Amino acid sequence: MSRLVLSGISKSYGAIQALSSVSLSLNPGEVLGLMGDNGAGKSTLVKIIAGNFAPSAGEISIDGQPVVFHKPKDAQREGIEVVYQDLALCDNLTAASNVFLGREPMAKLGPVRYVNYRHMNEVAADLFKQLKSETRPRDLVRKMSGGQRQAVAIARTLLSRPKIVMMDEPTAAISVRQVHEVLELIRRLRDQGITVILISHRMPDVFSVADRITVLRRGELVANKPAARSTPEEVTGLITGAIE
Ligand code: ATP
Repeated sequence: MSRLVLSGISKSYGAIQALSSVSLSLNPGEVLGLMGDNGAGKSTLVKIIAGNFAPSAGEISIDGQPVVFHKPKDAQREGIEVVYQDLALCDNLTAASNVFLGREPMAKLGPVRYVNYRHMNEVAADLFKQLKSETRPRDLVRKMSGGQRQAVAIARTLLSRPKIVMMDEPTAAISVRQVHEVLELIRRLRDQGITVILISHRMPDVFSVADRITVLRRGELVANKPAARSTPEEVTGLITGAIE
């Protein structure tokens, strides 16, 4: 289990200050609900943690050791994975093929370097079992519900045994039943000791699954507290600035 600490992270795009000295610790096995209005800096923070670009100032450390990510692979090597909103799945491939897409060299399959088709299906089946998802390795992604598609995207991150999984709006634009499925998947990740950063605008979803709620407003961290000691009304006030 590792502990990721962000200290004084700032990021500017030219004249735009997207993040201003954000400090935050992520504890193993917690779900952090990252909230904020459009443009508050959520995606910028996630992209910095994921190694997409470096902060303009500040430091990231893991278990007390400073780390510098030059590219996403550097962050992946430290066990940091992202499920982006578009999921980046290939509709015409099976669930198992999507799990392994572009991942073959990263799969920690012990001495097995070459992943054959049967092995791929077995590994994918294990990952779906781990997520208690009914998705079958040979199912075609194009025939799947939004919830199942999320399961495939999450199973793909599990292949590299992540410590932190960041999810960008996973419950946007799916049915109520599927929202419950996705929230269950997030709980499964947490049960395995994985830290989840959930970016969402949907207050009920965040409150039903998050242990801690972090609010960004115009690039500044304005709240970071246990969900149990917070209310949706208070968080809404913090997001809009009605509560300072
Ligand atoms: P949303 O909920 O709309 O995705 P967000 O909270 O994720 O918003 P960011 O996308 O991180 O916010 O944006 C923070 C600020 O940085 C905004 O003012 C945005 O316009 C600006 N910004 C983001 N990416 C870029 C970029 N590549 N170039 C210039 N400005 C950018």
